[in-house]
Amino acid sequence: MAAKILIIEDEIAVREMLTFTLKNNGFETFEAGNSEEALNIVSKNNINLILLDWMLPGKAGIDIARSLRASIETKELPIIMLTAKSEESDKIMGLESGADDYITKPFSPKELMARIKALLRRSAPQTDMEVVIFGSINLNPMTHKVKDGDKNIILGPTEFNLLHFFMTHPERVYSRAQLLDFVWGTNVYVEERTVDVHILRLRKSLESETSKYIQTVRGAGYRLSK
Ligand code: CA
Repeated sequence: MAAKILIIEDEIAVREMLTFTLKNNGFETFEAGNSEEALNIVSKNNINLILLDWMLPGKAGIDIARSLRASIETKELPIIMLTAKSEESDKIMGLESGADDYITKPFSPKELMARIKALLRRSAPQTDMEVVIFGSINLNPMTHKVKDGDKNIILGPTEFNLLHFFMTHPERVYSRAQLLDFVWGTNVYVEERTVDVHILRLRKSLESETSKYIQTVRGAGYRLSK
């Protein structure tokens, strides 16, 4: 079955170009020009991925990402932010608002497809369905539920996969490049800085004591350890 992709973009010409490209690549597409239309489509359709324009009137792009992440039904919905800005701080801000990836305009259809396929791949259900426990963290890959002690932890898809990877490979140091390979899947377009942003988000989601398990190993990478 074709993956369903929602395009949220206020410029009709850009939206039509994206729809054309996605349809040509076998995706089913939905279009929204603003936040209200977008949330309405998300509530009625089983959307698999969202392409979200950063430059919507107001700060709508970031607001949509934040409200999707805050809702229990949509917290795991993969989001790629489309941005005309190439400044690093803007990219990081986009990721911090809840997007899983970003792509800078102008981009080629080929690059867009690579990004979409990589994100769909890493948000697909894990094949390893066993419950994993590390310290006070309990992660259930079947239900996608994470508990830290008694507290339910809400994670986006990338943080969930990152935590799952660490919990199934504890006490070992992984470089950013290795984490990109293992967690993101081989994707030449993702920068290593992206790993740092998701590590930061993962730490923020966990209880303060537990967040210390996610350790930075200077000059080497990251490790899960008590
Ligand atoms: Ca726009």
